[in-house]
Amino acid sequence: MPDYDPDNIFAKLLRGEIPSTRVYEDDDTLAFMDIMPRADGHLLVIPKTACRNLLDASPEQMAAVMRTVQKLSHAVIKAFGADGVTVQQFNEAAGGQEVFHLHMHVLPRKEGDRLRPPG
Ligand code: C5P
Repeated sequence: MPDYDPDNIFAKLLRGEIPSTRVYEDDDTLAFMDIMPRADGHLLVIPKTACRNLLDASPEQMAAVMRTVQKLSHAVIKAFGADGVTVQQFNEAAGGQEVFHLHMHVLPRKEGDRLRPPG
């Protein structure tokens, strides 16, 4: 597996070098709105420390990210009147990953809806 690239787009976003709409932050994780939302309220949760993806993550990074995913899943259900959430995560190009800093998609869902296509 390739090394972590400290200049990937989410590393730049963490350093404030590119803009984002931040919605939650704690010591270990950051959450922000996806710029190409596939559902209303589509957000991303990332660890603040270097991590390429699930295959590269420590148990502590996974625990911190999942704690935030769970917290924000409850929050988006309230905020968007959703009936559920889809949590998605991609690993390496072959697995559909485009940005090589670990991130989890949190997608609020309504009964009978469809996710919008990427882009
Ligand atoms: O497939 P993968 O989950 O790696 O795709 C990256 C995601 O990051 C896309 O949903 C894209 O819209 C999002 N993104 C973002 N802000 C950026 C660059 C990408 O929300 N500046």
